[in-house]
Amino acid sequence: MSYKIAIDGPSSAGKSTIAKMLAKDLGYIYIDTGAMYRAIAYYLIENNIDYNDENKINEVLDKIDVSLDYDKDNNLIVYLNGKDISNKIRTAEVGEAASVSSQFIKVREKLVALQRKLAEEKSCCMDGRDIASNVLPNANLKIYLTATVECRAKRRYLEEKEKGIDTTIEKVTEDIKTRDYRDTHREHNPLVKVKDAVEIDSSEMSAEEVVDYIMSRFF
Ligand code: C5P
Repeated sequence: MSYKIAIDGPSSAGKSTIAKMLAKDLGYIYIDTGAMYRAIAYYLIENNIDYNDENKINEVLDKIDVSLDYDKDNNLIVYLNGKDISNKIRTAEVGEAASVSSQFIKVREKLVALQRKLAEEKSCCMDGRDIASNVLPNANLKIYLTATVECRAKRRYLEEKEKGIDTTIEKVTEDIKTRDYRDTHREHNPLVKVKDAVEIDSSEMSAEEVVDYIMSRFF
């Protein structure tokens, strides 16, 4: 029988890092649903489609094919219409476009169907915003991973600095607050902590400590 782990939480709480590490330790596949929303956002930007325009987005959705694969070191490869875009979707611009376009129902329906299909046969660790509440409501383990806004902003700021992006802690903090608001207030599948989720606040924990905690408590 396959085993499903759902990890939800706000932006920059460390979900993808933890999900990837857990999947590696357990021999499960890792499914980064944020990367899928980013792939659609990337398509919209590349094709000069306003990512606020729901009707325009709906018109092109059938032309967008998103798929995931893994390299030999188990790193995620994201394909958009057969082209590897993994290195192009981690920019602030794509993040912003994904945060906005992911609120539209047809975008979500398309990706949720794909996410459920990917999770069908294999044991997996999937991270996102609506995994426990919507995509995999019967997941065996549901984790709500969070951290304070200050802590998430500091992590994101250091990551962006390392990538050579010119930013400030104030800008990153504002951006995180805006994304939190959108994620928790959208009409369709907002970010919520389901009642049977285990909440972990990673503000004072390293990624290794979070993974050790989950492994020792549940496996
Ligand atoms: O997690 P990440 O920042 O890569 O996700 C990009 C955007 O996609 C987020 O800002 C979020 O609004 C959206 N998203 C979503 N549902 C998911 C995963 C991500 O709405 N399951």
